[in-house]
Amino acid sequence: MLDILVRAARLPDAKLPADIAIRDGRIVEIAPRIEAQAARVIDAAGQLVAPPFVDPHFHMDATLSLGLPRLNRSGTLLEGIALWGELKPLLTPEAVMERALRYCDLAVSQGLLAIRSHVDVCDDRLTATEALLEVRRRVAPYIDLQLVAFPQDGLYRSPNAEKNLLRALDMGVDVVGGIPHFERTMQAGTDSVRRLCEIAADRGLPVDLHCDESDDPLSRHIETLAAETLRLGLQGRATGSHCTSMHSMDNYYASKLIPLIAEAGLHIIPNPLINITLQGRSDTYPRRRGLTRIAELRAAGVNVALGQDCTMDPWYPLGSADMLEVAHMGIHAVPMTSREAMAWAFRSVTQGGAAAMGLPDPTLRVGGPASLVILQARDPIEAIRLRATRLYVLREGRILAETAPRQARLSLPGRPETLDPAAYAPIAED
Ligand SMILES: [Zn+2]
Repeated sequence: MLDILVRAARLPDAKLPADIAIRDGRIVEIAPRIEAQAARVIDAAGQLVAPPFVDPHFHMDATLSLGLPRLNRSGTLLEGIALWGELKPLLTPEAVMERALRYCDLAVSQGLLAIRSHVDVCDDRLTATEALLEVRRRVAPYIDLQLVAFPQDGLYRSPNAEKNLLRALDMGVDVVGGIPHFERTMQAGTDSVRRLCEIAADRGLPVDLHCDESDDPLSRHIETLAAETLRLGLQGRATGSHCTSMHSMDNYYASKLIPLIAEAGLHIIPNPLINITLQGRSDTYPRRRGLTRIAELRAAGVNVALGQDCTMDPWYPLGSADMLEVAHMGIHAVPMTSREAMAWAFRSVTQGGAAAMGLPDPTLRVGGPASLVILQARDPIEAIRLRATRLYVLREGRILAETAPRQARLSLPGRPETLDPAAYAPIAED
């Protein structure tokens, strides 16, 4: 007897639908037709069944705080940091937890079941750290939440940042964070990268730095991160987040830098929703886009995982915990519209994010956990195009969320009465 039988599931890379049998939280069989009793049968009807989404870069301490204590008028990163500085002394653990848990509810409804969140440790009370550690404990049954000790105001620029960062790690925060481009000088930024990598090496932890989130082509902290990763043997557990200065770098320098990033096994996490809005703000025209060199990094074999970064906070007024929206913006902002690249964008917000977070490969397979999302779309590209409805969200065989399919009722002379947004165009083949 099975717990759940999913009929006619279209796996991301499969041409034909298959049935998926689930027992005791695991996938026990995938076959064209499975004849077995099940406590519950879900008819996927040929729709896409994919691994859950992963967001490897988020700020859960600030999420859903839009307008507190005021709005970001310039729309810049720096006003966002200043605004967050005004909000920080007003934070209470209860308010941080309440917003974070509300966000996690939204995330589950969107099939987003693994999140790496930075948490600002430049607050002597460590209010947000304590609150998010409690949130991590509470959501553990349904979300893999990793926390990064993030010295938002600079490891050296903020007086107690290093002490507080070490305290946060002692309290159980998972990852070492940093923001070298926000230190007072290039040299202080370089020193901070070295120190943070040494802390990660000493403690056996991953390191994930906000690196060169700047339009300054001479912001080259990613180079130091790669070199320190090699020096200290941190390959595979070091990440450069944002890396937007690479967009503006001299091409010759970039041609030397990208192989170094690959050699160091760095993960790179671009955040398209945020950087398409934050970067280029001091340009007149032409105005720069705000993404790192995704195509070139991919071609060099680097794991590039798209992140969301923000939802309704001092830096970004929009966002909806929707990693398909993140992939959609990435495709536009790079731009990368080949079918290969668009299919990659879907893997980037599933398998790519899991690799960056050091989680097991979530590809759906026999013997693996029955953690999956059934989408109202027939393939990954259509899912991105439609930001498809998550019909079912399962974690280890348990249904966490269900959403009714989107369907419009039409009143048009001589036309069909209903419209399923996922079924009015053929799937394109390569
Ligand atoms: Zn960030």
